[in-house]
Amino acid sequence: MERLAAELRALGYQPRIDTFRMPGWERGDDRVAMIEPHARSLRVAALCYSDAQAAFAADAVDLGDFKPEQRATTLRGKVGIVSPSTPFAMREIAAAASEHGLRALLLINREAGGQLLARTGSFTGETLPLPIYSITQEEGRWLQRLLARGRPVRLRVETKSRVRGVETANLVVRIPGKSPETIVVGAHFDSWDLGQGALDNGLGVAQLYALAHGLRDRSLARTVELIWFNGEEQGLWGSRHAAAQLGEAPVSVMVNLDMVGVPIAVNALGDSDLVPVLERWHLARGKRLPLGVQNINWLASDHTPYQLAGVRAVTFNAPIPRESVRYYHDLADTIDKLPASIVVESTAIIAEVVLALATDPDLPAGRRAADDTARLFTSFGLEPRLRGMGLWHFDNSTP
Ligand SMILES: [Zn+2]
Repeated sequence: MERLAAELRALGYQPRIDTFRMPGWERGDDRVAMIEPHARSLRVAALCYSDAQAAFAADAVDLGDFKPEQRATTLRGKVGIVSPSTPFAMREIAAAASEHGLRALLLINREAGGQLLARTGSFTGETLPLPIYSITQEEGRWLQRLLARGRPVRLRVETKSRVRGVETANLVVRIPGKSPETIVVGAHFDSWDLGQGALDNGLGVAQLYALAHGLRDRSLARTVELIWFNGEEQGLWGSRHAAAQLGEAPVSVMVNLDMVGVPIAVNALGDSDLVPVLERWHLARGKRLPLGVQNINWLASDHTPYQLAGVRAVTFNAPIPRESVRYYHDLADTIDKLPASIVVESTAIIAEVVLALATDPDLPAGRRAADDTARLFTSFGLEPRLRGMGLWHFDNSTP
């Protein structure tokens, strides 16, 4: 953040560091080892908001998808192994595991190849009721095979990671236009301690910086605000903070850049009022995007808190090649997976869209009413997940 602030000052901007507090978490020297039938350590990564716990030894139990029937057996005091195919949200899994007296959980990673998916265990920032770990697919499946053959598997678990409040910050650059009406463009620059976070989301940081570079000395009809968020991975804390600060600010659109490869479509995220503006841009450009303008809402990245505050939002359908994206949230999300051409080609399209939003004379001004916002999520079936994340605040409106 400090390096970026210095680079932005060198471009002639006055970046603002907007500090805030969030539920933080610090990875410790956690250890999960098999004691029986073999003595060896297992490759694991604690999920964010797992809290420190004294070492203990316990039998492992295969919970499969953790369906209600699999919860009926005696689980008290054991370490549960959960398959990657489980349909349940982390919050449900953690609550059920704690209710059944499990002492820890090992979630098998959905990617093979020794990968560990680092992620948050709690979008609300609450301390997890038991330590939850990601385990490699290979070792997780091995434990399941041993158990299926009736071999008792005994594990030792020691959790030193801990939950603690932290102060962090967003970095903000304002590029004044003729009108105070604002287009916010954001990207999150936190990654995971386990890797560089080149794709998630160093790419977005670079795109936003490229945008800062390209918008210097431009005369814009609307104001453009560039914002680099912190705390996205742990629970969208930076964008929640920024959205909570909006007050009555005239923010017309928020554009979110989270793992944006070269766009094949631009997405109005379910807000039909935005579609004509994006269609105008798309028709005016010579080369069409393969899927043009889409209008599908999705969760959850830094656009979500803005949407919930009534701000229209735009993302891109811009897949990153599978051979690169499979490494995200782990050790191997490194800069060598990110061809420079992706940054150049993607930023060209992103910049076009931002300029169109900043200049289109018929962009709808103002925010959505709360009822319309609630409908934006209910019509895409997203309400249950928002409730699970503690972000649903529409119980008094009638969508
Ligand atoms: Zn991310």
